[in-house]
Amino acid sequence: MATFTCIVCPKGCRLHIDEKMAVTGNNCERGAVYAVKELSNPTRVTTSTVRIRGAAFARLPVKTDRDIPKNAVREAVRLLDKVSVDAPVKCGDIILPDILGTGANFVATRTLPRLGA
Ligand code: SF4
Repeated sequence: MATFTCIVCPKGCRLHIDEKMAVTGNNCERGAVYAVKELSNPTRVTTSTVRIRGAAFARLPVKTDRDIPKNAVREAVRLLDKVSVDAPVKCGDIILPDILGTGANFVATRTLPRLGA
């Protein structure tokens, strides 16, 4: 039996899942789907920032455009240390494609115009 908190919505139900993948404690079906996935193939949408030149801020917020394997999150974020972009950037622009061969991209989550433009 494994026990953890559902992170699908703010309610945060306490989920229990047994060795036959039977889920209890969930208040909706999404929690059951999450529990099975969390045990068999945990994934996360991942957020971070990258350096940006020529904008009003020094860092540009980014996130993955889909879930990536949970065990790849740390390495994926480390890749961003080597990334630097130039303004202007539009929200949704791809900043780093095909992260670690997952098919997911890091995309900008904010539009930052070029300073003085
Ligand atoms: S089980 Fe359903 S209601 Fe409960 S936290 Fe998960 S998504 Fe929200």
